[in-house]
Amino acid sequence: GGFQSMGLSHAVLKGILRRGYKVPTPIQRKTLPVILEGKDVVAMARTGSGKTAAFLVPMFERLRGHSSQGVRAIIMAPTRELATQTLKFAKEIGKFTGLKAAVVLGGDRMDDQFAALHDNPDIIIATPGRFLHVLVEMEMKLKTVEYIVFDEADRLFEMGFADQLQEIITRLPDSRQTLLFSATLPRSLVEFARAGLTDPVLIRL
Ligand code: AMP
Repeated sequence: GGFQSMGLSHAVLKGILRRGYKVPTPIQRKTLPVILEGKDVVAMARTGSGKTAAFLVPMFERLRGHSSQGVRAIIMAPTRELATQTLKFAKEIGKFTGLKAAVVLGGDRMDDQFAALHDNPDIIIATPGRFLHVLVEMEMKLKTVEYIVFDEADRLFEMGFADQLQEIITRLPDSRQTLLFSATLPRSLVEFARAGLTDPVLIRL
């Protein structure tokens, strides 16, 4: 079956088609129903597997149709390149949902980032160091966050972001849904998942 048989809304299906996807990849087929149910997930998935859409599609589906003030979803990426690419996918897939996404990237001018955040995005895609910096500078509250993704989590850890991720997680409400996508699951990541996720479903190909 295609994306049409997965219980997605017309708005999200239109975005998927716009991006040119017809049939879900194996990782998307496995993660989508579980994430749509609201469960926390640890997904072992590599770049090239379609992992980005595996968390973007259900994110738009879960956020769509109701609104709130403040940031509702956060996607943590290890590099500017990955965050920038994820924003591009999010703009296409989410085009018909009315939800706004912005990036916060190390190396970008701070005033540009403040401007992007003053536009009240629903979704922030960010590298952890700069995100934490902006959080503190803007006294941003994360009480409205419903959905957080740690993308390429093994690389986030390899790049030394563990403390920042821990700090960010302590600021989130307990009611959030947490997703961890990673090619590998080293011990440090298993411990992070144990502390930060609630009864996660482990998905591997
Ligand atoms: P990713 O693993 O998220 O980096 O995606 C790898 C590539 O697969 C990207 O170019 C995506 O746009 C593409 N892709 C993701 N999902 C699908 C799909 N269901 N059908 C076709 N291409 C896809």
